[in-house]
Amino acid sequence: MTESALIATVAVAAPLAKPYSYLVPAELADQARVGVRLEVPLGRRQVVGYLLALGSGDAAGLKPIRRVLDAAPLLTPELIRLLLRAADYYRHPPGEVIRCALPAGLSGKGNEVSILREAVYAAVPRADQPAGGRQRQVLAQIRAAGSLPLSSLRTLFPAPYAPLKRLVELGFLTVEEVERHRDPFLDQPVVADRPAVPTAEQAAALEQIATAIAAGGFRPLLLHGVTGSGKTEVYLQAIAGALAAGRQALVLVPEIALTPQLVARFRARFGAGKSIAVLHSGLSDGERYDAWRAIAAGEVDIVIGARSAIFAPLGGLGIIVVDEEHEASYKQGEGFRYHARDLALLRGQMEGATVLLGSATPALTSFQRARDGQIGYLFLGNRVGGRPMPAVELLDLRQAAPAGVLAPPLLAALSETLARGEQGLLLLNRRGFAPFLLCADCGTTFRCPNCEITLTFHQGERRLRCHYCDYVERPAELCPGCNGINILPQGAGTERLEEELAALLPGARVARMDRDTTTRKGAHRALVEQMLAGKIDILVGTQMVAKGHDFPGVTLVGVASADATLNFPDFRSAERTFTLLAQVAGRAGRGGRPGQVLIQTYSPEHYALQCAAQHDYLAFAEQELAFRRELSYPPFGHLVNLVFSGNNGAQVEAAADRFAAGLAPQAGAVEVLG
Ligand code: ADP
Ligand code: ZN
Repeated sequence: MTESALIATVAVAAPLAKPYSYLVPAELADQARVGVRLEVPLGRRQVVGYLLALGSGDAAGLKPIRRVLDAAPLLTPELIRLLLRAADYYRHPPGEVIRCALPAGLSGKGNEVSILREAVYAAVPRADQPAGGRQRQVLAQIRAAGSLPLSSLRTLFPAPYAPLKRLVELGFLTVEEVERHRDPFLDQPVVADRPAVPTAEQAAALEQIATAIAAGGFRPLLLHGVTGSGKTEVYLQAIAGALAAGRQALVLVPEIALTPQLVARFRARFGAGKSIAVLHSGLSDGERYDAWRAIAAGEVDIVIGARSAIFAPLGGLGIIVVDEEHEASYKQGEGFRYHARDLALLRGQMEGATVLLGSATPALTSFQRARDGQIGYLFLGNRVGGRPMPAVELLDLRQAAPAGVLAPPLLAALSETLARGEQGLLLLNRRGFAPFLLCADCGTTFRCPNCEITLTFHQGERRLRCHYCDYVERPAELCPGCNGINILPQGAGTERLEEELAALLPGARVARMDRDTTTRKGAHRALVEQMLAGKIDILVGTQMVAKGHDFPGVTLVGVASADATLNFPDFRSAERTFTLLAQVAGRAGRGGRPGQVLIQTYSPEHYALQCAAQHDYLAFAEQELAFRRELSYPPFGHLVNLVFSGNNGAQVEAAADRFAAGLAPQAGAVEVLG
């Protein structure tokens, strides 16, 4: 027997199915704590590993850890358990799962920013309050916030420098230069607000949530509330309850850059201090790392973030909110593939938290779980303040095909809306100018050499772009097929719709919101602000315009074509169409004035459209679930997509065939498609 040594279980950041054991040398024993990153040997390389557990035993044949990379653990024990369960569930190497969960870069630099704080120790003897009124105002702001970047003080006061300088001289303030990017979320000043008196439906939902939080265990709840029914207010009050119980909250949103209004509401309610961490793609690596550290250290009460925030190292979770739980963006489609909503349920179960899934159009899988009693069901059927749901009309394009994108009734409704001084929102779920160019003489189209899909024509830059791989080319002057000159744009994208509106409604202020106009940092926010300020009459956009916005001035919503989504070859296309229409329709009439929705389509009799027009989620779910049950599609069966790839087509095909043959004995339980 060899003497007992300290042994570490380490998940190596490499495609290995299991964690490895390493010897902890005596000189590293103090630093090697569970949850730190390590440098360990793997073959002849040195790689990063994550320390999962410590134990003692026989070290014969074990290689020693080389270095400990963190002074304090990055992973909490709860998080390690969650990540290992996820690795097992999704059949992905544990080290890779952990690497994906941790903030991207673990070191990094931003710009220098001046942060103002109240001085704790006065350098010179001072009074309680400065004498000058402006100085007092400035100091009050900084006191209220705890600390403020200089840039945001500038937005609160026109000329803050003289009073600031005096406050520093008097010893009230300190100025700290820190490496930091400007944070577009946390630097914006917000006006504090108070909880609204809940409506009867909100109160009923909140009571159940409060009971769940008080019980302290795992409780999954589906909050199904029509658009404008006050779901966000329910989240806010539910979270206040969890915080009052001494626990923390995690809020997942589909895409954080698109939800500045939601973040602002959280900050208005819970204060602009640092107890809220917003994890978003605009953070520098350094900021991301700092945020992670602060969360792991227990300094953060509320974390708001997109999909990957499900891994935020909160230690005392009381509630996880998944807003717009039906959104496809919760699914990570490459590398470590996971679904953040499903992990939210798993995490809630493991850490004894309430999980609140919110949506106006719940995913049918979630709805079915609620029906089966696996998760609780809370329903908000009415808009706040008794506002009516907008009237929805389906415009049958077979009766009157429009010359351009918009049929006459939609154009007429737009002009009337503008005449009343109200705003319109137009959805066309395709960006660019035209879906494709076509030679009118010989029918030649232009395809991506990488992906084989048709290239989209972008008029502004006069380029053809592949929307899959971003391949770009200049459109040919002459048709490569017949040398003709009749190459014409076919179909329409948002860019073309914008142009059509400028021609048909001269004088209207039209803006476009899609991936092309919102890549620049702050561009999306600027559009939202212009809409709210009434500086835009008509906002044209892709499904981005359908998401979560609260524009009280919008009374007309138009959908250019409901058919593209409907005809997409996927078993979820009806669900996607219903959801998109219901969500975009929900943008109309959120203010005092009633809303109107016009949907252009070639298939007005389809039940997805009929139900969307009636605002009837239940009827849609009924029909769609019956159809799914018949074909054993989810939620009544599981679909597994197996991808075989290789350099030799025949070998790949043979391997796929062998695999399919191997499944044959399980016929009945497993059906092989394709
Ligand atoms: P949802 O998230 O369901 O679309 P919101 O939470 O955004 O709805 O609520 C819609 C509007 O109603 C918001 O402007 C919100 O401030 C307001 N609101 C929500 N709950 C109440 C309430 N109980 N009393 C008054 N106004 C409310
Ligand atoms: Zn391509």
